[in-house]
Formats: sequence, C-alpha cells, structure tokens
Amino acid sequence: MIPYGRQDISEDDIQSVVDVLRSDYLTQGPVVPAFEKAIANCCGATHAIAVNSATSALHIACLSLGVGPGDWVWTSPITFVASANCALYCGAGVDFVDIDPRTYNLSSQALARKLEDAERVGRLPKVVIPVHLCGQACDMQAIHVLSQRYGFKIIEDASHAIGGKYKGEPIGNCRYSDITVFSFHPVKIITTAEGGMALTNDPELAGHMSLLRSHGITRDPRQMTHEPDGSWYYQQIDLGYNYRMTELQAALGLSQMRRLDEFVAKRHAIARRYDEQLADLPVVIPWQHPDCYSGLHLYVIRMQLDQIKKSHPQIFEALRDQGIGVNLHYIPVHTQPYYQRMGFQAGDFPEAERYYTEAISLPMYPVLTDKNQDYVVRVLKELLQ
Ligand SMILES: *Cc1c(COP(=O)(O)O)cnc(C)c1O
Repeated sequence: MIPYGRQDISEDDIQSVVDVLRSDYLTQGPVVPAFEKAIANCCGATHAIAVNSATSALHIACLSLGVGPGDWVWTSPITFVASANCALYCGAGVDFVDIDPRTYNLSSQALARKLEDAERVGRLPKVVIPVHLCGQACDMQAIHVLSQRYGFKIIEDASHAIGGKYKGEPIGNCRYSDITVFSFHPVKIITTAEGGMALTNDPELAGHMSLLRSHGITRDPRQMTHEPDGSWYYQQIDLGYNYRMTELQAALGLSQMRRLDEFVAKRHAIARRYDEQLADLPVVIPWQHPDCYSGLHLYVIRMQLDQIKKSHPQIFEALRDQGIGVNLHYIPVHTQPYYQRMGFQAGDFPEAERYYTEAISLPMYPVLTDKNQDYVVRVLKELLQ
C-alpha cells in the first residue's frame, strides 16, 4: 500500500538516537533544550517548549492563556479533534467557524460575522485556534486584527505547517498569535515519533507552559513561596502534567530539523507534479494563497462530482483497493457523536460539510517516488474518465 504520508528516517537520524541511548540521560538531559533552541531559532520565536504531543501542547497553551469553565474557544470544523478537545480538557466550551471554500482554512470573514453576533449576546471567545490546514497559513493578519477588536487570544495549530511561511516569514514566529503549536507525529513534516512543541514570544506564557508540562513543579527559588529548604528542594505551585518529551525523541527531532527545508522543497516538487498531471481531471487541485508558502503536509483534491459518474466513497474505495492509501482530512469535528451530544448538528457548518463530501488526500511525503506518484495519477485518471 502506498500510504498518504510517512516519515523519512536517515542513518544520521538513527545514529543521533543511538548516541542518546549510550549517554547519561534518556530524559531531562541536554538534547531537549537543544531541540527547542533549534526550532525557536528556525521559526523566529523567542521561546519553545517541547512536549510529548501537539495535543499536550494545545492543552497547556489553553491553560496558560487562562482558558477555563465559562470560557469559549473557537476553531475550524475541518481539523483533527485535538484542536477542539484541548478546550474541553480545560472545562471550556467549544464552537466552530466555517471554512473558506478556497483554502479550507477557518474563514476570517465567517469569523468576523460570528464575532459580531457573539458580541451582541455576550458570548465572545477567549481563544481562537486557527488551523493551518495542509500546511497553508490561515489569514492570520485579519484574524489578528479581529483579536484586537474583540479581545481574544490566538493559538495557531500549525501541526501541518513547520517549514512553511506566511507573508515571507516563518510560521511559528507568533507575529500574529500568542502561541503556535507544532506536531511531530510520523506523518507530519518532521518527526520525533510522538512529540509536539509550543512557541511563544511571551516570557510569562513560556514560563507557565514549562511549569504545566512537568507537574507544575519549579526548582527556581524566585518562584517559590520561601527560600529552598536545601538543594533537593522543589515546590509544586500549579497543577501540571507529565507532558515531557524524552531525549530520544528530541535527538530524532534535532536531526530531522537539518533536513526541514529539503523535506518541504520535496513536498513542493511532488505537488507541482500532481498539479500538472491532474490539471485535466474533474477535480479541484489545492489553491495556494500568494501570501503563503505551504508546508504541504497534505495534498487534498476535491472531486467535481457533477462531472464524475462515480460517488465520492466509490472513488475512495477504488483507490484503496488498488493499493493507494488515500485518506480524508478531516471528518468535520462537529459531526462527531461526542460533539453532537453537545448540541451540534449536521448543517451547522455547510462549507465544511460540503468539503467533507468531496475531499481526498493523495499520497504526499518526501520519499514518495515518481514511479509511485505516476501510478496514483494513472489510477485516478482511469477512475475519473
Ligand atoms: C496531528 C494533529 C494534531 C495532534 O498532534 P499529536 O502530536 O498527534 O498530538 C493536532 N492538530 C492537528 C491539525 C493535527 O494534524
């Protein structure tokens, strides 16, 4: 099966992990801070906090921004469930903003309209979580302007987007947000097996997130209620979690970072080949906003079903039957049973729901060969013509 995404692990990556195994520390050693520094420098943010997943990063990002019971967090319905669940972990409510029909990202126009209504009924969000779907940045400048007008905070879910740019600057620099989150799951742009990172330029948020990642425990005397009892001493000053990243994971991530630009360039080369070869088929190929250089985590096409004799599920299953591991990113979160029980209904976010009935993610990863890509295109052509 040709998967839709997979990691690219080099001998250097393997050696970096082996070196850690032979070293003194498997966790809480020097490699995690080195990895954090590398990401912060690469993205142009002042602070980076490594954690064991992007889900954990989203959770502590919400907590550090004070999200709690009675608050509302808004995100896109077209995302992985973690972008919404993080608010529920904090006891807050979740709502969604429909997508832009061209980029499939949270629409800044829909956001502006929803904010107007929310202000009228006194239900403004505390935090908005734009998701950079497929690696293409949301309309961050417009969302930032709205955040100043309505007083909400912004967490960028950039799980798909490390290595990408927005208005010529790296995604992750937090110019238009309070916190940016990356995922290092194996299908994402770089991997640590499991892992995530939260970036910010705010030293207080950074301090709070580092505390929350490790039980809410500090060893910094300046944060303690009194002088340390001795050199063994620590204080728990908040309720945190064990969300730490291991040295093994950080070593893999640090080694992968050296090939970040190469990975993204390869994804662009693959996208260009798809763009050319699919141009005559009844599908919508990904539209790239001129302000964006996408990380291209995913290559999503939309079936123009009025021009195709088969149904969307038929095309999807036929591709799988022929060894092509296509996927669908994503099932609109508000249609999940858990969210339906909270009162969401089919029809609430029509652009997102329509997208779901047409989208297919084609194989897209740096080690996808031309031969395999040509096979994907050939099978698609046979199915659609
Ligand atoms: C993968 C992903 C996550 C979760 O990442 P993990 O590292 O697996 O926790 C969150 N949001 C989006 C948009 C993702 O694609």
